[in-house]
Amino acid sequence: MNKMESNNQYKPMSEFSAAVQCKCPRCRRGKLFDGPMYGFKSQTMHKRCSHCHLVYEREPGYFYVAMFVSYAFNVAELVILGVGTYLLTGNLENPWLYLIVLFSGAILLAPFNYRYSRVVLMYWLSPGLRFSREMAEAPPRRDEDALI
Ligand SMILES: [Zn+2]
Repeated sequence: MNKMESNNQYKPMSEFSAAVQCKCPRCRRGKLFDGPMYGFKSQTMHKRCSHCHLVYEREPGYFYVAMFVSYAFNVAELVILGVGTYLLTGNLENPWLYLIVLFSGAILLAPFNYRYSRVVLMYWLSPGLRFSREMAEAPPRRDEDALI
């Protein structure tokens, strides 16, 4: 039995599950990022999918758009943290409490924002970048096929 036959039962993961796990948006099999979200190594993104060889940076400056998504994430998180701090402490006197909570929240959530702003951009804000069942079911491409 070769690899194609054993792959007949392959069921692609759902779009949401693939996004949460930071998988390639085209085949949902290759990883977008190298290493864990939180760690001592710096965050790195793979240049292309290990399975279907999709080039993740679709055009020069493609990931600049992710900064706007990251900005929206940050605003939402800071509003939630600020309102949450007020509701938990009832403090309206001491601005340092809010500064410390908001700055540490923004720093702690930065790796999350970095990853998921790119995931949101690739999954839901890039027209023409869609899941391809053929790519998912095909065996991993070899490097010689990597021209597309
Ligand atoms: Zn892929």
